[in-house]
Amino acid sequence: MIPGSFAYHRPKSLNEAVALLAELGEEARPIAGGHSLIPMMKLRLAQPEHLVDLAGIGGLKGMRAEGSEIVIGAMTTQAELIASELLAAKVPIMRETSLVIADPQVRYVGTLGGNVANGDPGNDMPAVMMCLGATYHAVGKGGERRIAAREFYQGAYFTALEPGEILTAVRIPLPPPGHGHAYEKLKRKIGDYATAAAAVVLTLAKGKVASCSIGLTNVAETPLWAEDAAKALVGSALDEESVRKAVAAAEAIVSPASDNRGPARYRTKMAGVMLARALARAKARAA
Ligand SMILES: Cc1cc2nc3c(=O)[nH]c(=O)nc-3n(C[C@H](O)[C@H](O)[C@H](O)COP(=O)(O)OP(=O)(O)OC[C@H]3O[C@@H](n4cnc5c(N)ncnc54)[C@H](O)[C@@H]3O)c2cc1C
Repeated sequence: MIPGSFAYHRPKSLNEAVALLAELGEEARPIAGGHSLIPMMKLRLAQPEHLVDLAGIGGLKGMRAEGSEIVIGAMTTQAELIASELLAAKVPIMRETSLVIADPQVRYVGTLGGNVANGDPGNDMPAVMMCLGATYHAVGKGGERRIAAREFYQGAYFTALEPGEILTAVRIPLPPPGHGHAYEKLKRKIGDYATAAAAVVLTLAKGKVASCSIGLTNVAETPLWAEDAAKALVGSALDEESVRKAVAAAEAIVSPASDNRGPARYRTKMAGVMLARALARAKARAA
């Protein structure tokens, strides 16, 4: 339970951090809240020789509305997301999701950037980011680029980030006013990762679904954007038959491992149950 030895670096600017990561190469890792990386180091699943702490860099925290989007700094903690009136008013699914991540102690330190950059399919925010159509800002020695959350996750712990790139911010298009939302997570106890979870954002027009987006957590090697399941609902009144079709479409794309959260078949069914619950709650909330 003791990590291997490493050198600790605390750059004061983004440029300095990018230069350090480029110079130190693949043996260096950025560290944000450390609440995924340090446990992995203790288990020797990660053994970086250098840790580049992002905590001393100004400008990576906080959130602001920018036209029809909200931009959130990567070092914003999950507790800060919960406390944000801006998010509660404009993107309430962010607050709802943050509240079911781990426990308050973890949320005071764990960051949004760390949660989405980690690449662990058990992290809750990535599926929500896919559901919302978010974009990530990444800065590396080649400059800045933007990567769609829906294209970011390539395998367990494999993402589109290049070695040495730092995720600096998350950009979320504002869901329309009056949208319905829900994040439903099945977990064995407080502080646990999801057995299965589903994120839903939808709009209704005259009682029928006008738009819908669905993300799924911890039921495959990556978070999933359930495009076909959402399409099956557009134009429907979210009646039993259309929800059944959407659930079947979602279950068709999941491939959870059998583990201490249950056998694969159970977790597949739970993904469907979480989706049906999230749809019902999102419908009830939609104007
Ligand atoms: C007991 C416990 C329970 C937990 N339960 C949950 C849960 O239910 N749901 C959930 O989602 N999470 C859970 N977590 C994880 C927690 O939310 C982490 O804080 C989060 O996954 C990672 O954020 P961090 O800021 O701690 O990142 P770190 O641990 O510092 O970093 C994680 C990874 O991301 C990389 N990284 C971090 N920031 C950046 C960046 N800005 N740019 C590029 N790379 C970066 C690091 O190099 C590392 O590889 C739990 C953690 C603990 C300890």
